[in-house]
Amino acid sequence: MNTKIILVTGASRGIGREIAYTLAKQGHTVIANYNKSEDQALSLKEQANKENLNIDIFKADVSKRNEVKVMVNYILNNYKKIDVLINNAGIDQEKQFQDITDEDWTNVINVNLYSVFCVTQEIVPYMISNKTGCIINISSIYGIIGGSCAALYSASKAGIDGLTKSLAKELGPSNIRVNSIAPGYIDTDMNKHFSTETVEEIKNEIPLNKIGTPQSIAKCVKWLIDDDYTTGQVIVIDGGWSII
Ligand code: NAP
Repeated sequence: MNTKIILVTGASRGIGREIAYTLAKQGHTVIANYNKSEDQALSLKEQANKENLNIDIFKADVSKRNEVKVMVNYILNNYKKIDVLINNAGIDQEKQFQDITDEDWTNVINVNLYSVFCVTQEIVPYMISNKTGCIINISSIYGIIGGSCAALYSASKAGIDGLTKSLAKELGPSNIRVNSIAPGYIDTDMNKHFSTETVEEIKNEIPLNKIGTPQSIAKCVKWLIDDDYTTGQVIVIDGGWSII
């Protein structure tokens, strides 16, 4: 099997953690980035060690250029290349539009959108010189259909999809594929503030009548890595929730 060196940002919990584990199970070497959740990152590493999987963990705030540079240098020094980048790290924000502050704006855009720009910009030169690469950005259906009290989050995610399509055009000639995955409602910490009643209501709005799991997203990531002719796409995984 053609094993790859893969960086997953925001892999201590939720979708990113599942992506890291699934790809390591495939035989790939995964660098799982985390920021605040050190215990969870260490437990992922421990699980990987028990199962003889190649998962390395690295702490970096991906909204900070200096920390991203240190992380990328660490990976290149230790693994010599990065074949696949998965920009997954993100934060949610629910607020009425009038209540969003400049500070909120800067914080959410920095973590959700600037981080994708920054991490990708640090890695792309090495992918170009290797004449191969795969970049997968985790956006959201809110970036496509919008969400009430989610203007800032939706703007950050729509920005990711625009970046994805433009980069796919620019980097296609260098044999680098760039795609987004836009999840719907996925069962992670990000949604744990919703009441059981609200989750039930959401479930009833979803044609497949079930809440998504991190595994649903990880399966698509695995497929995109193995693929060789898909680029510039925003792949919606939401049980049909956003069908209009
Ligand atoms: P989650 O359970 O809250 O996990 C978020 C992850 O992002 C954590 O591992 C966290 O790491 C990391 N992270 C946050 N800020 C970071 C930073 N500055 N630097 C590095 N890592 C950072 O969320 P999730 O549901 O798995 O979400 C993963 C991605 O999917 C996000 O981009 C989210 O917007 C997107 N998404 C989720 C849903 C959903 O319904 N869950 C739907 C659509 C899109 P630490 O805890 O270590 O800081």
